[in-house]
Amino acid sequence: MTAAEAKKQSKVIPNKRMTGVKEIDIKTSFTAADSIPIKVLLDKDVIHHAFTQSRLIPVHIQFLPTNKCNLNCKFCSCSERDKAQEIDFGLAKKIINLCKQLGTKSVTITGGGEPLLYKQFNELIEYFWVKRIKIGLVSNGLLLHCAVPETINKLTWCRISNSDERSFNDVYKKKLSNVVNAAPDVDWAFSHVVSTAPNIDEIIKVIDFANEHHFTHVRLVSDLFQPESVDMQRLKTKILQKGLDDSKVIYQERKAYARGGDCYIGYLKPLIGADAKVYACCGVQYALERPSKNLPEELCLGEALDMENIIARSSEPLNGTICSKCYYMNYNILLKGLLKEVEHKEFV
Ligand code: SF4
Ligand code: SF4
Repeated sequence: MTAAEAKKQSKVIPNKRMTGVKEIDIKTSFTAADSIPIKVLLDKDVIHHAFTQSRLIPVHIQFLPTNKCNLNCKFCSCSERDKAQEIDFGLAKKIINLCKQLGTKSVTITGGGEPLLYKQFNELIEYFWVKRIKIGLVSNGLLLHCAVPETINKLTWCRISNSDERSFNDVYKKKLSNVVNAAPDVDWAFSHVVSTAPNIDEIIKVIDFANEHHFTHVRLVSDLFQPESVDMQRLKTKILQKGLDDSKVIYQERKAYARGGDCYIGYLKPLIGADAKVYACCGVQYALERPSKNLPEELCLGEALDMENIIARSSEPLNGTICSKCYYMNYNILLKGLLKEVEHKEFV
């Protein structure tokens, strides 16, 4: 086993979600929005700013460079966005500089659309890299082979979005395999949307590929707009019947979310859309009573170039009660606690 393979094996996220005891590996989990936000407590800069200045810092930004996409998935949560919209690269650089000055340490480059369709994709990654901002990428994977290999090697992690709607065919597998093998230090993962009539054979190909290429995990999820459409327990049984090693699979069950309330996450983890505006969280398109499949104005915090003023008012929460479900409830409760005076602190 090579050193890179050994590192990957030690990072495997255990398959504990189906047991009833929800156990998340807090050291390796990148994206568990609904988890207990231990990482916030571990960030000394966030704690320092909260305690001394009652404000947050945008430590992790979500950056959507373009709304263009080379697919047209049925379950797409962004289908009503202006598909032609993308951030001018000069403007993107100004926003990145601003975020860096304000304390940004990491970025998730995601959609909106397919980030690889952004004309200056390689330059964008390079720009974040030079600024020493750690980079995660969410991509549908189809164009990863078109990126400069050095670009891919600058990623900390890459999550490939997949679905039963697409065939995981040999041509695609070969191209993806070449990309993954050339970037062994990147943490690779799949997020696979399971359709209402799950295509087990395709899912098995995806899990097989992940096992073979030392991916950190395969997250199986249902369509967010039809959360009850997949019986994950049944799916797991079918996968195990095929004799597959599913130790890397996270069977993501949809849970009943609470309504939104005082919302602070947008000051810690702002989403910057292809319209160069800042939104309160990465789930805003699903959050309202009638999901918009667009980034809703109601949950917009302002222009990205005004980030300094946005962050300056971070002790004032956005009114999240308009959200019928909140993905960041634990974060919002913790952030409120960090920003407000707490009496009798010693009595933990
Ligand atoms: S790849 Fe993503 S952005 Fe593109 S259509 Fe599918 S879900 Fe939407
Ligand atoms: S209250 Fe709404 S905008 Fe705020 S984190 Fe929750 S879902 Fe997102």
